[in-house]
Amino acid sequence: MFEAILIDKTETGSQARLTQVDEAQLPEANVQINVAWSTMNYKDALAITGASPVVRSFPMVPGIDFSGVVEHSDDPAFNPGDRVVLNGWGVGEKHWGGLAGKARVPGEWLVPLPEAIDLKRAMAIGTAGYTAMLCVMAIEKHGVIPGDDVLVTGAAGGVGSVAVSILSSLGYRVAAMTGRQSEAGYLTSLGAETIVDRAEYAQPGRPLAKERWAGAVDVAGGQVLANVCAAMRYRGTVAACGLAGGMALPVTVAPFILRGVTLAGVDSVMCPKAERLEAWRRLAHDLDLHKLDAVTSEIPLSAVIETAPKFLEGQVRGRTIVPIAPELA
Ligand code: NDP
Repeated sequence: MFEAILIDKTETGSQARLTQVDEAQLPEANVQINVAWSTMNYKDALAITGASPVVRSFPMVPGIDFSGVVEHSDDPAFNPGDRVVLNGWGVGEKHWGGLAGKARVPGEWLVPLPEAIDLKRAMAIGTAGYTAMLCVMAIEKHGVIPGDDVLVTGAAGGVGSVAVSILSSLGYRVAAMTGRQSEAGYLTSLGAETIVDRAEYAQPGRPLAKERWAGAVDVAGGQVLANVCAAMRYRGTVAACGLAGGMALPVTVAPFILRGVTLAGVDSVMCPKAERLEAWRRLAHDLDLHKLDAVTSEIPLSAVIETAPKFLEGQVRGRTIVPIAPELA
């Protein structure tokens, strides 16, 4: 038996509870892992609260990511004792996830953890940090280079905090957009040079605004993303990964056809393995681990359900990690 969060279907929607689960209930797959750390991401909050139909089958163990140690493996690529990390692939949505003592997944979903990153920091990075790195790689691919002005939206959240940290370490001039001016000091400590008030970008704007940003990492979507696109410099690139501000995108084609702006979509869930390995290699190299520690808070598994609504209200700062078996190394 092991402890897990389990989401059941109810007549009105779904209900999450902390419970004991029998190992025999784990899904069929060729690698079994003792989970060391998991995390709370925005998507986990959607799943646990039932605010959005993230969970595709019931009962479901939520948790879109985990780090841990292989217990047994029928995949020749992994051996007992290997340290691994998992992000996405529908885990916590269609396949039992990481907010549990054990997980069983196909070996091809696992990434061997780089030597420089321990199991705890792997989850301090988590899916948010790995997505932040995919966004950095996306703007780099389109020619944005250190020294350029780059805007990060939702900067005090998980993806945003890690993006600000990575970009400032790499030498970009980082502007951090936040709806919480109380987080300005925190964002400056991560390396942001300027703080942008989200309110400046929250109302419908002109199709083209003053050219400000060579690159942008956007977690907001909605009106904010539309205004970010309008304020990009000639041939600038926006990496769009989130919808914290809404799903709609009320933008015109003007930034794209008159300024050659690129809107680069970033998906971490089904991202091909080679790009994942590269993102984790880059995280081991380019992320200042002291800054990472400064963005990380810890909550016990028993507090996960009550904490979930705070994510949807945008009240959480940085990354939230959950110790499952922190003694594992
Ligand atoms: P968090 O909850 O940690 O952070 C989200 C941040 O967005 C908040 O902290 C807040 O930052 C900002 N925000 C909140 N409400 C609004 C609003 N109405 N308009 C604009 N900004 C707002 O979430 P994560 O960082 O984990 O995830 C951010 C987004 O990225 C989510 O939509 C998530 O689903 C998505 N995501 C997508 C992935 C992918 O593969 N494409 C992977 C991971 C995440 P502040 O207070 O500083 O403004």
